[in-house]
Amino acid sequence: MVIDDFFNGFGGSYVAEILRRPIEELKIAFEALVDDAEFDKDLLQLQQDFVGRPTPLLFAEHATRELSGPPIYIKLEGYAHTGAHKINNALGQVLLAKRMGKRRIIAETGAGQHGIATAAACARLGMECVVYMGAVDVMRQQPNVAGMELYGAKVVPVYSGAQTLKDAINEAMRDWAANFQDTHYLIGSALGPAPFPHIVRTFQSVIGRELREQLTRRSIEAGTLVACVGGGSNAIGFFSSFLDDTSVRLIGAEAGGMGPSIGQHAVRMSSEDASEGIIHGYKSRFLVDSDGQVSATHSISAGLDYPGIGPQLAALGVSGRIEYTSASDIEALEAVRFFARNEGVLFALESAHAGAVAMRLARESSPDERPIVINMSGRGEKDLFITSPYFRREEWERFLASELHMVQKREEFK
Ligand SMILES: *Cc1c(COP(=O)(O)O)cnc(C)c1O
Repeated sequence: MVIDDFFNGFGGSYVAEILRRPIEELKIAFEALVDDAEFDKDLLQLQQDFVGRPTPLLFAEHATRELSGPPIYIKLEGYAHTGAHKINNALGQVLLAKRMGKRRIIAETGAGQHGIATAAACARLGMECVVYMGAVDVMRQQPNVAGMELYGAKVVPVYSGAQTLKDAINEAMRDWAANFQDTHYLIGSALGPAPFPHIVRTFQSVIGRELREQLTRRSIEAGTLVACVGGGSNAIGFFSSFLDDTSVRLIGAEAGGMGPSIGQHAVRMSSEDASEGIIHGYKSRFLVDSDGQVSATHSISAGLDYPGIGPQLAALGVSGRIEYTSASDIEALEAVRFFARNEGVLFALESAHAGAVAMRLARESSPDERPIVINMSGRGEKDLFITSPYFRREEWERFLASELHMVQKREEFK
């Protein structure tokens, strides 16, 4: 298979001269992989035994009744190991890197979820793992940093710039340029220079293939699929088996944050603050300020606050195949509570944006319309430190104070 670097004009590979070689090498290795039955077999085995695939498809009967709309189903992708879809891509790329003879994996992470998945995959497959993380993010995301280190990864705080994700990306790029002979750079979403969007989509498409099979086996004719869209990897994986089936509506849910002003949201597809540009090595739509710099974004969910969007996701939005809408922080929090109470399922805040959009859609639709399927990209235990102060502030403050007291008291921790 030979892959095209562009999706209707979006994408491409705009990288410094020094990265041309590793990118070309990666592309050749990836193209060869598609016909490699041995690789497929190894990956499938890991998906079953290590990740816990297939992830279930749940009929949300109580939510369906509450909303008085069409039947709602939830693809429980967040039941995968490490709590989200990110492991699908991490595992696939680590296996690919191993095939290529690499011994070292580098990644960058903002909130830490991609770092956790990468660290776990590296531990399982015996690869050295280095994760770059802005120093500010290291401080904010201690539980995930602790998790990565438990899996044996080395977390490197980045002190340049604003000390967040953007700076971590630059640092990872520098490392890759210097060490690509033995090192693979593992990008975590369906973005970056080609062939990364293709690679990530390929490894995430397991979600859509499973869903199609589950629907067919149960004679369900889905009418609408809803997924949240950060960089776009869970969405493109979920939608992948349905792109050509135009009787199925595909809806992407972006982070509406606190409101429509620039800096308060991360809406790339339907916001006037976004425009086409070439940033981070690829052409897509980005939120930019008046100087053409990537602008600050906000979302209550750490996974949806990236200022850009994967090139294929942008192309499919422009062509109209994927419809985009957004949900606010508050709507996402309410969706977390709704599905927890009604179905006993705890959505990650990212996935709750898809949940909120599905709730809106169900309320507007009649019960005899075809079912809505939500991709629950992650589970919400990771967000308890964010959702708890919102739902029960005083109790949470007391809990944190008592935790601090305990740690200070325990001599043996010194
Ligand atoms: C990282 C993350 C996302 C956003 O990333 P995509 O590449 O857009 O899928 C969504 N949901 C969860 C649970 C995440 O961890």
